Formats: sequence, structure tokens, C-alpha cells
Amino acid sequence: MDHLVEEEGGTLTEQQTLRVPVAYTGKTLHSGIPVCMRLLPAPAHTGIVFRRTDLPGEPEIPATVEHIVSTNRNTTLGNGVAQVMTVEHLIAALRGMGVDNVIVELDAGEIPLGDGSAQTFVDILQKAGLSKQAVPRRYFRLHKAVWVSKNGSHMIALPAEELKITYTFVTDHPVVGTQFGEYTITETVFERELAKARTLVFGRDIECLQQQGLGRGGDLDCVVIVDDDGYRNALRYEDEIVRHKILDVVGDMGLLGFLRAHIFAVRSGHRLNKGLMQEIRKHSNLTIGVGNR
Ligand SMILES: [Zn+2]
Repeated sequence: MDHLVEEEGGTLTEQQTLRVPVAYTGKTLHSGIPVCMRLLPAPAHTGIVFRRTDLPGEPEIPATVEHIVSTNRNTTLGNGVAQVMTVEHLIAALRGMGVDNVIVELDAGEIPLGDGSAQTFVDILQKAGLSKQAVPRRYFRLHKAVWVSKNGSHMIALPAEELKITYTFVTDHPVVGTQFGEYTITETVFERELAKARTLVFGRDIECLQQQGLGRGGDLDCVVIVDDDGYRNALRYEDEIVRHKILDVVGDMGLLGFLRAHIFAVRSGHRLNKGLMQEIRKHSNLTIGVGNR
């Protein structure tokens, strides 16, 4: 893999970066501390690169599958001692809105929570604006079906002409129930159908999460909390939970860059997403090509 294949015909989709730098300050989900994040334009082929401005030498952490160091309820990237937690919603917004190249400066080790979804990041990207870079976007294109399975969770990726995600969220929870969602990921679909969906937390898990030091920055506005007798807060979509799971898949798969595949997922989370990306890398080519995004 990794040798470049050029598709026939049409106009190649160009790589994009931000038009101007943009900054956002907010608290984080797990550690609960304020963090200042700056998104900076970057040259073609940079990809997404995190930079820890609070550490000596301002170490950089490329957003790639190889730099995943934890998948415990969030995706954490690391490079030596430098780490960045909870990258998935920001990366979902970047890839969902069509950003190839960006430097993400942070003065702490976690991405700000925003409103718990990807909407905050979509808003700042729209404020900055995007600019085309006159270099073709590269896509991972599968040449066979691949799959991963663990503890009753499953993911299959099939070759396809676009990124499509079909997700089944299975739980015996009396309020949430089984939820199903299927979306072809374009900028419009991402912004309208997925960006606002927030993380689900079961009310009975809150104490345990807090004992582990996780979830300190979460409150009723930033996460969907469900108890056995109902939701504690108003939903943004009736099936907000499955939409958020799809948002997480978009964010994790964004560590590959741009992908053309049809992904079927049942009960998958960050750990299985990582396993699927490793399989996709083994069985795909990098291509430049035409497409709607
Ligand atoms: Zn999430």
C-alpha cells in the first residue's frame, strides 16, 4: 500500500486548510481544566498535527493511527511523553467539514469539550473559513472487505465510492433501546445530521467515572444523561445516541485521513475503531480522485 493511484476523469478534489487562524478556550471533559486551542493553517500533506505549547520544546503529535495510546472512553494520541486526550470530536469536525491540513496548538493535554458534540468545532471552522490548496486530496480506498470483532462488537468495511457509515447501537437499557443510523458523510450531512449529537452517559456510571478521575468537566448541557426512568435532559435528536456513535466513527477514521468505504458497525467503540483502521491500512491503496468531497 501507500503507492499512489490516480483515478480516471473529472476534476480532482483539492486539499483544504483554514483560511486564517482561529482560537477557542473552554474546559475539558475528563480533567475539567480550561484549555486554549488554536487552529492554524498548514501546508498541503501536513495532515492534522497537535502541538503542546505548554511543554518544553512544544512537541508535536501527528494525528495518525500509529499515535493512538489509549482508547478508554476517548481516543488519546501520544508522542513520547506528550499526549492529547479526547481528539475524536475535533477530528470528526475537521474531516466532516473537509479539512485536510491543520496545526492544532493546545496549552494542556486535552481538547476542550465544547458543547459535548462537534458543533463548537464546526462553528470555529466556519468562522475561520477554508481555502483550497491546489493539491489533490488523498483517499484510502479498500481493495477487499475487512472486519474486526471483539466481545460482541463488530465492524466491517467494504470497498465503496464514498464514506458511508451504518451503525447499530444495541443496549438493553429500558429508555435508550436499540438505535440504527446510516449516513453518507458529506459536509452537508455532517453539519446537519451529526455535528450536534452529544456523548451518552448512563446515570449509574457517573460516580464510577468520577472516581476514575474522568468526566469532571461534564454537565447536563454537554452530555446526554440517561437513568432507568428517563433522560435527565432534552435530546437534540430523537436518536442522538446512535448519531453520536457515528460521529465518533467519523472522528476515529479521520486518523487515516480521508476514506472511501462503507462501514457497518454494531456496538463498536474507540478500541474497535482502532482495530478496523489497522485492517483498512493493510488492505487499501492511497488514491487521488474525483468525488463529492
Ligand atoms: Zn464521542
